[in-house]
Amino acid sequence: MSDRYPDSQRDNLRVLTVIGNRPQFVKAAAVSGPLRAVAAEVLVHTGQHYDAELSQVFFDELGLPRPEHRLELGGGSNTAQTARMLAALEPLLERERPALVLVYGDTNSTLAGALAAAQARIPIAHVEAGMRSYDRAMPEELNRVLTDHASDLLLCSSEAPAEILRGERVAGAIEVVGDVMVDVARLLGPRAAARTEPLERCGVRRGEYVLATAHRPGNVDDPARLERLLALFEAVPYPVVLPLHPRTAARLAEAGLRARLERAPAVLAPPLGYLDFTALLYNARAVLTDSGGVQKEAYLAGVPCVTLRAETEWTETVAAGWNVTVDLDAGAALAALARRPPPERPPLYGDGRAGERVVAALARRMDA
Ligand code: UDP
Repeated sequence: MSDRYPDSQRDNLRVLTVIGNRPQFVKAAAVSGPLRAVAAEVLVHTGQHYDAELSQVFFDELGLPRPEHRLELGGGSNTAQTARMLAALEPLLERERPALVLVYGDTNSTLAGALAAAQARIPIAHVEAGMRSYDRAMPEELNRVLTDHASDLLLCSSEAPAEILRGERVAGAIEVVGDVMVDVARLLGPRAAARTEPLERCGVRRGEYVLATAHRPGNVDDPARLERLLALFEAVPYPVVLPLHPRTAARLAEAGLRARLERAPAVLAPPLGYLDFTALLYNARAVLTDSGGVQKEAYLAGVPCVTLRAETEWTETVAAGWNVTVDLDAGAALAALARRPPPERPPLYGDGRAGERVVAALARRMDA
């Protein structure tokens, strides 16, 4: 605990954090500890991700505090889910009366937290502000744009999103703090990388397999796109370790494609905890993914990334030569897998102390 804030004062600095899905648990893990040293945090889990494999394991492994409020609001369409979250957050904000609401990333929980706070006239801080794909068909893109324009404090992972926000003339204050996922990756990456057991369980050897993740609605909800994704995995000349996101597993079953995937040289796994996943990431020959977080983590781990999307928000990894966007083009994916990444891997997203900078920015804002 910091002596800057004696206990009584700490309680006046009340931050209500809204999280709800897997990447948000990772991001909040970098901030909650330092935040609780200087302020009282009320952690709200919306229940957007409710499976133990996508939720509880992250609290256990990353030392994230137990949420003060658990709302069971998963499932349903984006609109219906966001509406249920708004309805639940309004009375909660009235009861808790925080000085500030903190949200992360680009999910329905992010937008609901921001909008409920804006309506209650509570200042909002958005971590990972300014990311853009410029694809409004992505639910995440709507969530991030709307959240950024409702926010008072926009905390960016690098200079590029800060520049985007300046261009959009957002009303809030912009600050580059670095990327909070880097903090967690730096802290746990090397320890996780030394674990061999996850590789043994998947029957793969270091450097001889590709790790894959896919769950974006744009890739898995349309059966024709899902079939192309499957054909791409089938074309890869290495075993593909694929921890299946529940959304993807459900869409494969609905499209009758699960059996075909099982026949491919793929090693199917349930969604993995952070440490098992990171062990498989560090030791992979390459990564195939449509995840935002995994693109960054692959770069940090020094593993070439092939992104299964037409564009990416993490443009610096592409410019650095470590990431190639191929959409679902199997030929382009194979060509990208055959490339050698450059020897340099400059730090793109900060020094692993973004969490501290987020907290310093929040404290300054609440002192103001
Ligand atoms: N992750 C994990 N287990 C898995 C797949 C991913 O722990 O089976 C972690 C990964 O290391 C990263 C985060 O989940 O920290 C990324 O989440 P996701 O891909 O769901 O979301 P996105 O980053 O695309 O928003």
